[in-house]
Amino acid sequence: MTTGSPAPLTAPSPWARLRQLLGLALARPWLGAAPPPIPDTLWQSVWSTQRFMHGLSSEEQQALRQHSATFLAHKEFHGAHGLAVDDVMALTVAQQACLPLLHLNDPTPVQTWYGDFVGIVLHPGLAVARREQVDEDGVVHEWQEELAGEAMHGGPVMLSWPEVQAAADSAEQGYNVVIHEFLHKMDLADGQADGCPPLPPGFLGQSLARASREAWLAVLTPAWEDFREQVIRAERFGQAQPWLDAYAAEALDEFYAVTGEAYFVNRPRFALEFPALLTLYDAFFRRIP
Ligand SMILES: [Zn+2]
Repeated sequence: MTTGSPAPLTAPSPWARLRQLLGLALARPWLGAAPPPIPDTLWQSVWSTQRFMHGLSSEEQQALRQHSATFLAHKEFHGAHGLAVDDVMALTVAQQACLPLLHLNDPTPVQTWYGDFVGIVLHPGLAVARREQVDEDGVVHEWQEELAGEAMHGGPVMLSWPEVQAAADSAEQGYNVVIHEFLHKMDLADGQADGCPPLPPGFLGQSLARASREAWLAVLTPAWEDFREQVIRAERFGQAQPWLDAYAAEALDEFYAVTGEAYFVNRPRFALEFPALLTLYDAFFRRIP
C-alpha cells in the first residue's frame, strides 16, 4: 500500500505484508476476494481522531470498516516529493472516502463508484498544477494553480496530506477534501461532470433516468443560484460571506461536491443552510424511501 516510502510508522498491515512478500506493489490481489480485515489498533487509532464520524451507529461503523478494507485492497497509495505514506495515512483517506457509500444499498459500492482508478497520490503540501487555455484569439494562456485535491474520470485522485489531516478540525466549516474529491468521482461515474451522479431506478418517484436527473437538477440548480447570489452580494456589497467556500459558486459540479462534503461532516449546520439539499442528499446517500 505504500510506495517509495521508508518503514511505516505502524506495523505493516496484512495486505501490505502480503504484497511485499509477493512483490505485488502495482497489482490488485484482492479483486473478487474478501479483503483482509483492518487490525483493531490501526482502525481505532484513525477512528478516534475523526470526531465528525462519531455519530455513526456501531453497524454503520462496521460497514465503514468493511468498505475501507475493500478500498485499501483495491487502491495504491503514492507519496509525491518523497512523502512516506504509512498505513495510518492510507486508512485516514479510506475511511473518509468510504463515508458516502454507507447507505447506497449496493453490495460492492467501492467497485461500483470508485472502480475507475487505482492510484491515490498524497502530496506533502498543496499540489501545483499547470493549466493551459487557448482564448478565442488563439493566444495560449498558461498558469499554475495550487490545489488541495483533484479527481478526474479514469485517473488517480490527488490529495494534499495536510488538508486531509485537518479533516477533524475543518468539519465545523463543512470542509473535507477527501469527501469532496470522491463525490466528484461519484458524479463522474457516468462520465459527466454535471453535479448529478448516476441515480438509482425510481429515484424521487421518477420512472425514467432522464426524469430523475431533471428532478435532481431542479433542486440542486436553484440552491446553486441562491449561493451564487450570496457570494455576489458579499463581494459587491460587503454582506455576510456564505458558510461554505465561495469556490462552490464557480460551477454546478463544484457546488454539488462542496455542499456534499458539508452534508457528511456537519449535518446540523448543513440542515439549517440547505434544507432542500438535505432532503435530496438523504434520498440519494441514505436511500430513504
Ligand atoms: Zn472540486
